[in-house]
Amino acid sequence: MGNAIAAVRFRGDAEGERRLREDESLRGSLGSACWKGSTRDSRRRLLAGAVRVRADLAPGAWRAAERVRERSGDGTRVELYVHSSAEINAAVTCGGDRLLVILTSAAVERLDEEELSFVLGHELGHGVYGHLAMPIGGVPRGMSARDAMRVMAWQRAAEVSADRAGLLCCGSVGAAASALFKSLSGLSLAGGRVEPGALAEQWSELADAVAMGETAGAWAATHPFVPLRARALLHYWESDQAGGLIESCGGTRALEDVDRSVSAMLAMMDPLAEERRGLSDPVLEPFVLWGGLAVALADGTVHRRELENLRSVVDEGALRGALADRPTVESCCERFAEARARRARPLSALDLTRVFAALSAVAGADGMVAAEETGVIERLASACGVSGAFVERALARAA
Ligand SMILES: [Zn+2]
Repeated sequence: MGNAIAAVRFRGDAEGERRLREDESLRGSLGSACWKGSTRDSRRRLLAGAVRVRADLAPGAWRAAERVRERSGDGTRVELYVHSSAEINAAVTCGGDRLLVILTSAAVERLDEEELSFVLGHELGHGVYGHLAMPIGGVPRGMSARDAMRVMAWQRAAEVSADRAGLLCCGSVGAAASALFKSLSGLSLAGGRVEPGALAEQWSELADAVAMGETAGAWAATHPFVPLRARALLHYWESDQAGGLIESCGGTRALEDVDRSVSAMLAMMDPLAEERRGLSDPVLEPFVLWGGLAVALADGTVHRRELENLRSVVDEGALRGALADRPTVESCCERFAEARARRARPLSALDLTRVFAALSAVAGADGMVAAEETGVIERLASACGVSGAFVERALARAA
């Protein structure tokens, strides 16, 4: 069937990459081959710290890899490794003429063959689509908050592509959703499958901005992005493209229409999306302004880079006014808490993610996040009724 995997790349991902690459100011931050590290090094490190999968050592993973090779129609050489970790996860990196895919031992033990082929197809997708030439799983040091948000928005679109690749390779939307569910919950489901609709349903809750931090909805809110991925997969499963490529799929909906729905969901997480008013949104701005200043002041002085960063996401006049008041960490945290108290409705999980993504970008503006800065972020998080762990996880998921 030719290179099926290349055909299923999400348009929002390809277009997003092109927009980033066309931007002069980002030149130098985006790579041309593999984003970081020498590829020879990564292979050496893997050989030392992980086990290379062979048919006799991990037969399930081996067979899943065979299936991925067949269904993807892609000839890229893949070397598969397993390393010891209790978390169900996988990663991919360049290894010269081949891709190196690393599965955790928990993934090999708790995912069945179909689910593993979703995960492997996902990682192969990252390789085939050239994602490894872009910053992935984080943003380059010293990038402005605005640029970091643009890169992160693209990263989420890239995940949608990789999930489609995974779905193509495993051929079952139930297996794909179960793989996502298991990675998120750590549960093994005793050989059963999760109902994809049930997982995707959580997205509606999030999108409705159900109170988090005040209600027991916190569990769902800590992982805002997996429900979105599940729903994006369900949308894709209905598409005529999936219907044509995947045997058991009877999708007939126009792909263009499906892509529009997915883009609309992604835009909800993107403070800079044109459809939204952005962080100059009067509702969120005080949180970013006072929170950002508190973070910037954490080590005593506001550094130039931190200031530039803030300026890229909040109103210039408001920032000047705030600085004229000779703010301290204390006074900024108070103003932040006041903004929180003034709001009738609690901040939604998505709002919180946007705010804390901006604050983390300020904290990382000088290339490293100091312990004082982390302390302030935790304090602000608790003022919003969420834990520092929420912030960390939400940001990790955002990548
Ligand atoms: Zn991924």
